[in-house]
Amino acid sequence: MTWLQPHLLKDKRKLVLLLSLLVGAGFMLTSVVSYFVAKATIRASIVLNELPLTSDNIYSEIQKDLVRPIFISSMMASDTFLRDWVLHGEQDVDKITKYLKEVKERYGAFTSFFVSERSRIYYHASGVLKVVKEEEPRDVWYFRTRQLQAPYEINVDPDLANRDALTIFINYRALDYEGNFIGATGVGLTVDAVRKLIDDYQQRYDRSIYFVDLKGNFVVYGSRDHTPGGNIRNVPGLGAIAEQILKVRHGSFEYVRDGHRYLLNVRLVPELHWYLFVEKAEDEALTEIRRTLFLNLGISLAITLVVVALTHRVIGHYQRRLEEMATHDKLTGLANRQAFDVVAEHAIKAADRSGDPLSAMLIDIDFFKKINDTHGHVAGDVVIQGVAKVAKSCLRDSDILCRWGGEEYMVLLKGCDVTHARRLAEKLGQAVRETVFRHDDTDITVTVSTGITQYRPGESIDQLIQRADTALYEAKAAGRDRVCLA
Ligand code: GH3
Ligand code: MG
Ligand code: MG
Repeated sequence: MTWLQPHLLKDKRKLVLLLSLLVGAGFMLTSVVSYFVAKATIRASIVLNELPLTSDNIYSEIQKDLVRPIFISSMMASDTFLRDWVLHGEQDVDKITKYLKEVKERYGAFTSFFVSERSRIYYHASGVLKVVKEEEPRDVWYFRTRQLQAPYEINVDPDLANRDALTIFINYRALDYEGNFIGATGVGLTVDAVRKLIDDYQQRYDRSIYFVDLKGNFVVYGSRDHTPGGNIRNVPGLGAIAEQILKVRHGSFEYVRDGHRYLLNVRLVPELHWYLFVEKAEDEALTEIRRTLFLNLGISLAITLVVVALTHRVIGHYQRRLEEMATHDKLTGLANRQAFDVVAEHAIKAADRSGDPLSAMLIDIDFFKKINDTHGHVAGDVVIQGVAKVAKSCLRDSDILCRWGGEEYMVLLKGCDVTHARRLAEKLGQAVRETVFRHDDTDITVTVSTGITQYRPGESIDQLIQRADTALYEAKAAGRDRVCLA
């Protein structure tokens, strides 16, 4: 009978709504906060650990890879054969080419060379290449090496002998026995080897690695990155911070390209005059925790729904029990007076509307006190329950029966005039009279007195009840076990 407590219903809805908001918001907040904490941690680990470590590893790998060719070039520069051959006037070209070929093949270098200071002839493994000239831009390296304070330089150049493939040269200063400069010698290794190294790293660590010269041109990159001949200034996002990057020797940067955020570590490799770029797309690293976030949110939603559904059910259950307790009599299970008031009000209005007759019947058990006194209070309860049952069995479902007081019952008979009501009351009285109630092996019989009256359109419920009460009083006064009519 939820119509009795509309405010309770509203409270319940409010409570369920508040609860779902609280639980939902709590879960959501926790999920989102942990997502952002995880994101910050992952970012920090990429920026502070992963990228610098990769950069360091590659740098030391490059240094390691350069050690061998430098060593070989150093040996060549101090080779007595080479010195003697030069000092003896570069007599037999076959001898030097054989020597250079030997070096190249033995050490697996890509190329080996010697440029004589005296003749300016460029010798390499398969013969004389050309004569170096000061005005030739491609030969600038030789004249630079010639003036060098350090014993050697590392130079990256297109190699004429190697169909212009990008090659790293070790240009070592060769000196005679007195320490005079007699030429530049060394080996070259193609950048393909370095490129392989980069590819290997990219595959192993899933990050982009490339080299950029001091002007920002891409010089070496893995096979999956960038187009040859590009410059970092022309890369969307990266271009905006290019100047900033090319000013430092070492740094961490980030930029957005095609909607993806990239974390970037840059370091200068002084040996090569190149910058080493190591970058990683942040989104890729965050895919896993993003999936976790959505999973968490899904679980939170499910839990919230379960909590709300459970609360809804539990509250509904207790609400029904409270309503049941508030509107029903515990002993007989009949409606109580509060419930009756509401239902009677409805019945009166319906009767006013339809013009159908409506009758009231007030039933009271005769000499009930005596039953309590003789057989005990529990026996009295059994009789009150029993009479309720008999009354119910005599009435229709549409009739309204309630426990009025101790051993009194009120009945509203819809669509029933007083003649009809009287017949029904007589029948009820007879049924009670004939029923034997049993308690503790004792048979108890009782009678009832009944006052009946018909509803007069427009009157109040109290007026109707008052008349029924008067009729009941008359029945009692007239000797009980009978029906009286107001
Ligand atoms: P009358 O014929 O004039 O109605 O006499 P009576 O004894 O039935 O009338 P009275 O109203 O004096 O007594 C009713 C008694 O019913 C008084 C009360 O102790 C008892 N009573 C009221 N409620 C209950 C109940 O729930 N259980 C039991 N066992 N007795 C109750
Ligand atoms: Mg009474
Ligand atoms: Mg009585």
